[in-house]
Amino acid sequence: MTSMKHDTVVENSHKYLMHTYARHPVALLKGRGMRVLSGDGREYLDFIAGIAVNSLGHCHPKVVVALQKQAQRLLHVSNLYHIVPQTKLAELLVKNSFADKVFFCNSGAEAVEAAVKLARKFSKDEFGQDRYEVVAAQESFHGRTMAALSATGQEKYWRGFGPMLQGFRFVPFNNLESLKAAIGQHVCAVLLEPIQAEGGIKIPHPDYLHRVREICDKKNVLLILDEIQTGIGRTGKLFAHEHSGITPDIMTLAKGLGGGVAIGAMLATDRVAKAFVPGSHASTFGGNPIACATALATLETILEDGVIINAAERMGRYLIKRLEGVQSKFPGLIREVRGVGLLCGMELVGVDCSKVVKAAMDVGLLIACAGTNVIRFSPPLIVTEEDIDEMINLLTKILADFEA
Ligand SMILES: *Cc1c(COP(=O)(O)O)cnc(C)c1O
Repeated sequence: MTSMKHDTVVENSHKYLMHTYARHPVALLKGRGMRVLSGDGREYLDFIAGIAVNSLGHCHPKVVVALQKQAQRLLHVSNLYHIVPQTKLAELLVKNSFADKVFFCNSGAEAVEAAVKLARKFSKDEFGQDRYEVVAAQESFHGRTMAALSATGQEKYWRGFGPMLQGFRFVPFNNLESLKAAIGQHVCAVLLEPIQAEGGIKIPHPDYLHRVREICDKKNVLLILDEIQTGIGRTGKLFAHEHSGITPDIMTLAKGLGGGVAIGAMLATDRVAKAFVPGSHASTFGGNPIACATALATLETILEDGVIINAAERMGRYLIKRLEGVQSKFPGLIREVRGVGLLCGMELVGVDCSKVVKAAMDVGLLIACAGTNVIRFSPPLIVTEEDIDEMINLLTKILADFEA
């Protein structure tokens, strides 16, 4: 692709697509592992991975081959029939989690929709009419469809779309007293991210989830964990809640699960899952052969002997250590560095995250912002020490320019 054609793509993108994204003026064409190439011939080191999606990096051979093989076999049949890769993927998820049953959909927001519906249906079956409220956290993010948006504790996303759905209330994240107080007689579930990712990589107290579980048990309400961003090895465990030793009743997955294809999943224990019966919920494309075969290869590869998850845990510790080194060089620019595994944030002061992200693109590094002025690092789980060193060198140069 010549740079002329590249500019046309950018131009036509503005012309023909709804302006829902503030995109960088770059069209990415090809990827391999940690790197992507743009149509104007530039190479980028990818420390965002499609926002925690490309868990095995770009075009991992096992993922690509699984997709190709399935594409030659069967693209779609619908959930009127049993689907081999869907069943296999469900089995693998169940065998590696707290869950007994899985419902497949196509995105994170859909998984949250399914979770809210299941929690309400379970509560109605179990306790009668009046338990439908979901307690979620301020600064949370659960997606852009109406129920997921109504569960998202950030008013900036609601503006212009009201009224929000009824039955959601919000408490400060990482605050047990407010949570306890918010669980009244109409509440059916508590919905939380183990780490608030979009909200700015906010990590709760190590004891928080454990205590939340106790509160939910005592009040007899369900615990839904949204692991759409934190799941599938991202934090150095298959699921982030494993760090806390508790299990939820319902969990949502998407992003990293498909290794780059669109898939969402909602998992639950048998006790809760039995509230869904034929007709309760459905999705035309949910669990389709292509998405499931690709996700199956991704998950099998990630789980193989625990090698990749262990490496993610190790690389996460190295990444944090190196980011802290950067912080000590630029104490005037960096307020805090935080992260678990390969989900890390660097909170900036006195310089705009978006400006740093743009400067990073200019030197061939992909990063993104989260929350209020936080750089988000969510590299593929296959990231190496050398990749981290290279990224740290680029970041150091950029920040030195901003300091000057
Ligand atoms: C990205 C994200 C979602 C929404 O997922 P989509 O696939 O964009 O609908 C929901 N919850 C969390 C925690 C996320 O990070």
